[in-house]
Amino acid sequence: NFFKMKPKLLISACLCGSNTKYNGKNNLIKNFELIKNNFELFLVCPEVDGGLTTPRNPSEINGTKVFSNEGLDVTQEFYKGAEIALKTALDNNIKLALLKDGSPSCGSKKIYDGTFSNCKIDGMGITTRLLRNNNIEVYNENEIDLFLKCALNK
Ligand code: SF4
Repeated sequence: NFFKMKPKLLISACLCGSNTKYNGKNNLIKNFELIKNNFELFLVCPEVDGGLTTPRNPSEINGTKVFSNEGLDVTQEFYKGAEIALKTALDNNIKLALLKDGSPSCGSKKIYDGTFSNCKIDGMGITTRLLRNNNIEVYNENEIDLFLKCALNK
């Protein structure tokens, strides 16, 4: 139906090709055109939105805090970015998010273990947790088929 409204989607900016990753690169997904054609996109990058620079040192969650690999406490920036993502979602009545897995902000299944030894554990990022606590469904780029099926059949 040509007049059907596209569902709204909160999405990690790096998945759309924005160079917001800690190393100044992006994580453009290969089916981005499909996503773009089927949803109204709202791009967020919680780390940049929270005030961190790009490029920046990589960070990992350790307990209730977040530290860079040089030991800088960036917890506040991470929470600020998460609040901005949540506000974007609530202000626009967005119920669905597609975020980059593995990230200390955007991860939804896996995050790094806090020791900077390239070791992943089950867990979620600061932004994902806040969104889920507010009943926003968060998917990641490794489950796009499932995501499309669930999102477009609603
Ligand atoms: Fe991508 Fe999220 Fe990291 Fe920003 S914070 S670069 S959107 S994974």
